[in-house]
Amino acid sequence: MSTQFSRANRLQQLPPYLFAELDRRKQEARKKGVDLIDLGVGDPDLPTPGHIVEALHEAASDPVNHRYPSYEGLLEFRQAAADWYQKRFGVRLDPEREVLSLIGSKEGIGHIPLAFVNPGDVVLVPDPAYPVYQAGTVFAGATPYYLPLLEENDYLADLKAIPAEVLKKAKLLFLNYPNNPTAAVASKEFFAEAVAFALGHNLILCHDAAYSEIAYDGYEPSSILAIDGAKDVAVEFHSLSKAYNMAGWRIGFAVGNHEVLAGLGAIKTNLDSGIFQAIQYGGIAALRGPQDYVARMRQVYQERRDALVEGLAALGWRVKKPRASFYVWIPVPKGFTSTELAATLLSEAGIVSTPGIGFGRHGEGYIRVALTVDVARIQEAVERIKRLGIRG
Ligand SMILES: *Cc1c(COP(=O)(O)O)cnc(C)c1O
Repeated sequence: MSTQFSRANRLQQLPPYLFAELDRRKQEARKKGVDLIDLGVGDPDLPTPGHIVEALHEAASDPVNHRYPSYEGLLEFRQAAADWYQKRFGVRLDPEREVLSLIGSKEGIGHIPLAFVNPGDVVLVPDPAYPVYQAGTVFAGATPYYLPLLEENDYLADLKAIPAEVLKKAKLLFLNYPNNPTAAVASKEFFAEAVAFALGHNLILCHDAAYSEIAYDGYEPSSILAIDGAKDVAVEFHSLSKAYNMAGWRIGFAVGNHEVLAGLGAIKTNLDSGIFQAIQYGGIAALRGPQDYVARMRQVYQERRDALVEGLAALGWRVKKPRASFYVWIPVPKGFTSTELAATLLSEAGIVSTPGIGFGRHGEGYIRVALTVDVARIQEAVERIKRLGIRG
């Protein structure tokens, strides 16, 4: 790398990009003509439902939508989000004060520490986790304190184990259920405990609910805002990317505590100028339109999940069917680190997976597999692993 322009400390503070080496090997394999089965990225492979694309199309031709959008998002979009929330979770929201539009939920998650933390402050971040909680914290000059998500605790953060001196400096707590990468789900009791904990320690509770709509066997994830008193301390981040296969569109929203949303909004007003209104009309169509697409998508992921988990279990791998998210979090068989297993699967079987260590220290011992290819390809992947002879 060129050394003429040294990068700021905030970038250097982030751990080395652990996926870079795997990415390089993936490109190399592809160049050699290897028939790759890519279970690496959590990028939905199914198309956005037609009525949503139609709504974008129509709105894109209207010059009214070619101007700058409003900062906080069209009231119509925020109203659609509030109505969806009421219907889905039974939580009433004021669309003017308790809903904020985001350019994808990642944007809001990454920016929220800028509004509330100072250098020296602590942000409580799960480990393993979606890397943005850590990056947003470091960019705001604060220090992450990692909450191990352990299999023996069903991957629920052990809030009581956080030392008092850490809590004194902590301002923000990130949680994410259904969880990426572990696919764990949280009960209402856990959410209630987290809300009480945040109230007791004056923490802003940021719950990432990106996978609230991706669940199986009839299970319906709930909202943390459904807990009494949650609105006093919590905001919840929602994504249209996973629920409606709109990852490329860049639209999401945050809901909950007004004061917290206003702080995030103040950061955003200074950095971005909102979401293209035609995209917001697509979002309205998604939230207000028929929801049977979502049910069908769940069915598709569930069939893939079953093909993968049952296939690997037949080979002796210790792997459980997740109740939500489109990931399977697989314990690494003896004799491998997570990086070694991912590298072996790639070089010997053309299968791309993500080593758990890439999500944090406590991700070691696992690989994450995304269910974003069809059943036939998943069966092919299991067949290749069988031929490789790696047993659980
Ligand atoms: C995919 C994902 C997001 C981001 O979704 P966007 O709305 O597309 O930005 C947020 N959190 C988790 C845990 C995710 O996996």
